[in-house]
Amino acid sequence: MNKYYEKIEKVITSFRTKMDDFGMIINPITLARQESVRIAQEKFTHPKLLGRLGYYRINIEEGKEPLHIICCSDTITPHDKKYAFVLSHELGHCFMYKEGLFEYPEVSTIFEGFDEDYLSNEDGLDEIELACNMFAREMLMPEIKFRMGVKHYVLLGRDIKREKNIIADRLSGDFNVPHIHVLKRGNELGVW
Ligand SMILES: [Zn+2]
Repeated sequence: MNKYYEKIEKVITSFRTKMDDFGMIINPITLARQESVRIAQEKFTHPKLLGRLGYYRINIEEGKEPLHIICCSDTITPHDKKYAFVLSHELGHCFMYKEGLFEYPEVSTIFEGFDEDYLSNEDGLDEIELACNMFAREMLMPEIKFRMGVKHYVLLGRDIKREKNIIADRLSGDFNVPHIHVLKRGNELGVW
């Protein structure tokens, strides 16, 4: 078990508790607004880069919370399945800093980048990056809704294990999340 996962789950559960809705899909734009995280679009020079996270240190020096900014590649639009996932992943990093799991870097900087490869292949990612991907899955595919989505196919008499790719494809459309992360969410919840 990833050592950051428990903390991440607590953050998301407390957000859903506040909203009194445990099956709520958390919209990253709403969460960012609530947490004073700015979102901007940027033209990146690196072709595979999809998102970056930075902060302004000056606020810390004034004894306040630092201002975070997430920059999203202008190659992806809000309708793209990658968009919410990238924002949610970066919000995961924000919360790790906010919750004091890590110290902020010494200088104001862009300190994190989200690469196209993070979406398709998690092999070789460190625990922090894996935890932020889990954070995104947890935000965008709440357990209650995910299980209900799968149950629908059980009731239709589908073989969940054998047909998991087809079902994940449908759920990918329902949740607007990349197929690979629907499969991973199913693995995490042990539904297939
Ligand atoms: Zn990351």
